[in-house]
Amino acid sequence: MIFKCHYQRFWDKVNIKNEDECWEWQSTISTNGYGQFRYYNQIFFAHRVSYTITNGPIPEGKLILHKCDNRLCVNPSHLYCGTQADNINDRAIRSPNSQGSGNDGNISMFSESDADTMKGLYYKDGYFLKSIAEFFNCSVSLVEKIINGKVKNFKRQSKLTVSKIT
Ligand SMILES: [Zn+2]
Repeated sequence: MIFKCHYQRFWDKVNIKNEDECWEWQSTISTNGYGQFRYYNQIFFAHRVSYTITNGPIPEGKLILHKCDNRLCVNPSHLYCGTQADNINDRAIRSPNSQGSGNDGNISMFSESDADTMKGLYYKDGYFLKSIAEFFNCSVSLVEKIINGKVKNFKRQSKLTVSKIT
């Protein structure tokens, strides 16, 4: 949670442009390319902060996604609240009953590169388990297992598909 009197501290790190342009984060960037906002010894994803400041709290288990596909962008009008299944990258679509936190039944939804991202966020970037769990839309205990190397049966990396060569 960010206090209203500190919002300006956040916007000071943003290159604010016209409403239809991307507003890029000018401060620390995470290993996976998202802006990071440090606040009272916690690190937040900048796009999530932007969404929260503009729209209020993010519903539990929801992700903040980019319409513009620019991970550094924190323009509130380029952000929307969605689920992992809405995410445009090729992560596996979660099964309909695996929504929400506290569900550990979806280990197979994550690939080894997801595990590497989680480890990076935790060990290198100093994210709290809770933030990582929110970001990946899974339970804290699952994140903990993954970063401690207790999960082995990852989903295979999706192979690049060559649709049709003419
Ligand atoms: Zn944008």
